[in-house]
Amino acid sequence: MNCPKCKAAMAIVIFEDVEVDRCTACKGLWFDSRENERLKSKRGSEIIDSGDPKTGRKNNTIPYVRCPRDGNPMVRMVDPAQPHLWYETCSTCGGAYFDAGEFRDYKNLTVLDFIKDLFAKPRA
Ligand SMILES: [Zn+2]
Ligand SMILES: [Zn+2]
Repeated sequence: MNCPKCKAAMAIVIFEDVEVDRCTACKGLWFDSRENERLKSKRGSEIIDSGDPKTGRKNNTIPYVRCPRDGNPMVRMVDPAQPHLWYETCSTCGGAYFDAGEFRDYKNLTVLDFIKDLFAKPRA
């Protein structure tokens, strides 16, 4: 499989029983159907996101991305709890792509996100 962003080869990385694909060049991460959610709940799993967030931020600006599994256009997702974080998902196979540094971010809600979330909630 090739990276949907930079087209370099992706290599399999295993964390406990979850298998993900990591780009050998830009270190973007590919998760098959909801593995990102499974992996998010595992302690220490951010270790698989070994890329440079600077490269990730650059790749994050690529507007059109096709699914590396089935070639369908991917949709940009925003996590409501972390509105600064964009990642791409495929509605056909349920896969998700995270640029380098984004999975660490996805895993760790920052204090700032937490505060923003508090203010965003309607007061009773
Ligand atoms: Zn790549
Ligand atoms: Zn797909």
